[in-house]
Amino acid sequence: MTDATPPPVPPARRARRREKLARGLRSAGLDALLVVAVPNVSYLSGFTGDSSHLIVLRDRAVLVSDGRYEEQLRAECPDLEVVIRPVDRLLVPVVAETVRALGVKRLGVEAAHLSLSDAETLRGALATVGLIGVEGLVESLRAVKDRYELGLIRASIAMAERAFTMLRAGLRPDDTEKDIADDLEGFLRRCGATGASFPPIVGVGPNAALPHYRPSAGVRLGAGEFVLIDWGATGHGYQSDLTRVVATGKVTTKFEAVYRCVLAAQERAIAAIRPGATAGEVDAVARGWIADAGYGRFFGHGLGHGLGLEIHEAPRMRPGAEGVLSPGMVVTVEPGIYLPGWGGVRIEDDVLVTPEGCEILTHVPRSLETVRL
Ligand code: ZN
Ligand code: ZN
Repeated sequence: MTDATPPPVPPARRARRREKLARGLRSAGLDALLVVAVPNVSYLSGFTGDSSHLIVLRDRAVLVSDGRYEEQLRAECPDLEVVIRPVDRLLVPVVAETVRALGVKRLGVEAAHLSLSDAETLRGALATVGLIGVEGLVESLRAVKDRYELGLIRASIAMAERAFTMLRAGLRPDDTEKDIADDLEGFLRRCGATGASFPPIVGVGPNAALPHYRPSAGVRLGAGEFVLIDWGATGHGYQSDLTRVVATGKVTTKFEAVYRCVLAAQERAIAAIRPGATAGEVDAVARGWIADAGYGRFFGHGLGHGLGLEIHEAPRMRPGAEGVLSPGMVVTVEPGIYLPGWGGVRIEDDVLVTPEGCEILTHVPRSLETVRL
């Protein structure tokens, strides 16, 4: 029941990403960028291990890694220059030595990811090299997905959706929140995922009002009228992220009103997604709808987030966010209403920005008619 494996990202595509980054370096007046964030290294090199830094110059790139990874490096990034640090030496001093040997005079460093102690080590070892903190250079490239990445995200979504279908079919009143979360993780793996993209959130009744709730072994499904499940798959390194509410008891008029409001807010926000719109404008559409219904103070988080190699990445969809949406971005749209003591409803789908508007990538039904177990 697994779909055909999507084609992996070819090395030439990664070389193109590095060329794009190099153009950014030129306009920022940098000779090179030291890339330290693991997903950024992976995006630019194809290497899926850690403890390795990538130095991207205008016309070449060098990965500094260690002996544990030699074989993996040959398999994952045969096109890349690699420096293997000796076992008795730490990563950052070897990076500094490599930077010096490459003749770099102005080195950009990922200020949001390099630790202060590593920055000080670099400064000490590179007295004649200008270190310039930069932010978001690789992240802004990553925000726009290419067709390979979209194939991988679609595959990750398919895994998450199949797992949910399996889970939903087997839900029983005696299941605890923890049972359900554990089962879901198992189903995700059986559906081809490496694992869950984050520990699934399973909240029964009032627990659904806590956006980052941890499932309890002491709360059973039958104890509430509904359950909120927020889950995703990691597949081929890419993430998916969905939330559904399943009604397990009587659907009350209060539940119906809250559910309809969240769903309408989500549908309106999705309809507002198109190239040129800002993330903040899309957030405002959902937030305004929920506020007009009188629930404004019960929607206490941003509307959504970008999704890709990481579960939360650019662009952030929150009030006032100025990031402009462009084709190829994949974002979640997840408005919610949380009423303390009663519970909460959040509906979350993954949406691709297209040249014409957008495409909803997730397919689990979400109409009110489909929420009852
Ligand atoms: Zn989620
Ligand atoms: Zn999310």
